[in-house]
Amino acid sequence: MANKYFYIGYGMATVLLMGAFYLYMQSTEPPDQPAMMNGGTHFDNGFNQRMYDALIQIADTMTEPKPGEWLYEMGEKGQTYEDFVKGRWERPDSKYRIIYLQPLGNFSGNNCPDVKLLQQFAQSYFMMPVTVLPVIDVDTLNITSRKNPSTFNKQLLTTDILDYLGLQFPSDAYCLAAITIQDLYPEPSWNFVFGQASLIRHVGVFSFARYDPAFLGQQHNLSPTELNKLILKRSCKVLSHEIGHMFGFYHCIYYRCGMNGSNHLQESDSKPIYLCPVCLSKLRYSIGFDVKERYERLRKFYRSVGFEDYVEEIDKRLKAIGDSASNDISMK
Ligand SMILES: [Zn+2]
Ligand SMILES: [Zn+2]
Repeated sequence: MANKYFYIGYGMATVLLMGAFYLYMQSTEPPDQPAMMNGGTHFDNGFNQRMYDALIQIADTMTEPKPGEWLYEMGEKGQTYEDFVKGRWERPDSKYRIIYLQPLGNFSGNNCPDVKLLQQFAQSYFMMPVTVLPVIDVDTLNITSRKNPSTFNKQLLTTDILDYLGLQFPSDAYCLAAITIQDLYPEPSWNFVFGQASLIRHVGVFSFARYDPAFLGQQHNLSPTELNKLILKRSCKVLSHEIGHMFGFYHCIYYRCGMNGSNHLQESDSKPIYLCPVCLSKLRYSIGFDVKERYERLRKFYRSVGFEDYVEEIDKRLKAIGDSASNDISMK
């Protein structure tokens, strides 16, 4: 069956200059899977209508898309909660239950995110076990590479990496995400790509190379600690977004949300990391966690790494669902 390319990010004209995230699907049909064991329903003890409504009340509305921005350029149609459920995307279950991160090459120094922290973040965000596999030296793999014609840095071909990951897929994996600080390209006509994920095969590869301002020679006044924090923040954002795609999420067009697309780093920096109530419902349907517990775990992580703005976002949501619970009691 011919591959269907589902471009996420820049329009093709822009892509050649700047690159993009994209996903690719091997079929236009959603995967035909039996009902899974661990997922949630829309509402039950861990999430109810009142909590959902309270989160809708404080959800940040989208602003009118401007030329150059993702939604303006791509005109995506979105995916409602009902669309997602009808899509019958595979959900994690007792057999396929682990998110694997595969570092390609070493992560060391201030211009790399700490892999241990990425693991902790992903565990809190997805409420699932996350295992980091031993580092693989990419030079030992048969991955096509090239020298980028404009930046002259080495780039790896994503499709070769995805094929490799498909062969290495652990038997208990829900998904396998390779992470690298090497720059990537998806095909010769593209300048670069931040990452690529397959919704069907549950494999993906994401590069953190361009999250360091030095990559494009940009000046900044950040201390080494601040720089490292910025890189970790950007890396957590892309990791959660791209793994979200592996659960079958399309880009969100309903509210400001971690699943909004982004056309460039500036747009990515300006979008939030938290999920809107629609996408939170999808994630909960897939995994079946307690919403309050998830917020608390994320809050603990954000506080531990000094993401105080993210702590505030969580507090706002915890307060909203807490107030909705106290309203509940007072109505009895
Ligand atoms: Zn995306
Ligand atoms: Zn959303």
